[in-house]
Amino acid sequence: MAKTKSKTIYTCQNCGAQRPRWEGKCSECNAWNSYVEEIFTDINPTQTRGWSVDTQKPVRLNENPKEDILKRFDTGIEEFNRVVGGGIPEGGFLLLGGSPGIGKSTLLLQIAGGLAIKNLNVLYITAEESTNQTKSRAHRLGIKSANVEIGSESELNKIIQLARESKPDVLVIDSIQTVFLSQLESAPGSVSQVRECASNLMSLAKQFGIAVILVGHITKDGSIAGPKVLEHMVDCVLSFEGDSQSHFRLLKTIKNRFGGCLELGIFQMSHRGLEEVSNPSELFLQERGQKPVGSVVFSSLEGQRTLLCEIQALSLNSHLPLPRRTSVGIELNRLHMLTAVLEKHAHIHVNQSDIYINVVGGLKISEPAADLAITAAIISSEKDKPIDMKSCFFGEVGLTGEIRGVMLPEIRVKEAIKLGFKNFYLPGGQKNQIEIPKNKDLNFYFLNHIKEINNLI
Ligand SMILES: [Zn+2]
Repeated sequence: MAKTKSKTIYTCQNCGAQRPRWEGKCSECNAWNSYVEEIFTDINPTQTRGWSVDTQKPVRLNENPKEDILKRFDTGIEEFNRVVGGGIPEGGFLLLGGSPGIGKSTLLLQIAGGLAIKNLNVLYITAEESTNQTKSRAHRLGIKSANVEIGSESELNKIIQLARESKPDVLVIDSIQTVFLSQLESAPGSVSQVRECASNLMSLAKQFGIAVILVGHITKDGSIAGPKVLEHMVDCVLSFEGDSQSHFRLLKTIKNRFGGCLELGIFQMSHRGLEEVSNPSELFLQERGQKPVGSVVFSSLEGQRTLLCEIQALSLNSHLPLPRRTSVGIELNRLHMLTAVLEKHAHIHVNQSDIYINVVGGLKISEPAADLAITAAIISSEKDKPIDMKSCFFGEVGLTGEIRGVMLPEIRVKEAIKLGFKNFYLPGGQKNQIEIPKNKDLNFYFLNHIKEINNLI
């Protein structure tokens, strides 16, 4: 039998760097006081990691045997299917991150229920609650299928044993921070535990073709707790976000080896659990007032889907030596830049104004295509003139005041037309990329410079 040696090492809990000595400041990631003493037992790698060593022949790209097509499990929840790229891939290794209490377990239980309806077996391991707690929670959500097994276990070897016995199609681990390997002496949730447990689960996923979904908690600064290594190991990183005050929940892809990134799924929390929002634009626009000053609709693109959202601006005379700029849902630096462009190139004097920007519904917009909508909202508020309710804006604003093209303008326009929008303000350079429907009610304003929008409002 192979001898095991144990030695003390220090591991940075932030980046996973390992040092023989304690360091006050991590020399890898510059985090302060992040090193924790861990007893490291040198386990023979073949004992824990059951990698199959079948050598596989390289494949030519023009060979396309049918069995190569990735098999996916339909969860019955369309929003989730789309975000992961068309269903959970067989043998996939997924990580779902989110802050506590946001509804990760609820979402996964509903997914388990959906899979069970399609006759797939799910083993749901809860390391945080008892079996009965999780079971009664599942019953409240209306999930009673025999295809879903709930297990309460936190020792990883036992979990793997359970998975090998019941051979589920999907294994859920709730959460990766609470499971541990008894061979390692460090505490659950520490970097070595998380890394080692994840790598064992990965080999389980690949070897037996079980799709494994890990639940990961999020630290105060919003990153998934545990080493970055975890994010590198998994095939797909999903983040479940939302304000605990609001009932909207957003599911985003951060990384996806099996599909597109930047997808967005929208859910609404209700007494029956999470409900899919399949027409989010209507939902986000339903509470718009009549003739609102400083309110503009932006046609945004999230992954493959367009989403119409309302951007509000409030501009008023400042009594402060340095006017206040506040933004919710867009980056503050972007707002500073846009106000500077407005001042210089559109001659809108916002130097002495406090400006507040809000994206309705708790959405966060990161694409620069929102620039035109934001500037229009500011101009509307500054001039105290409402913008027609049926107007929709998109376009990037450059530092010289030029309006630049955005990705997929045609799709953005189509979605807005579907929802009854009639006036479109969009980049002039993209005129020939858009096929204007023959409907005479529609007005298209192709803009090349920011001062043109000033004249139109
Ligand atoms: Zn570090």
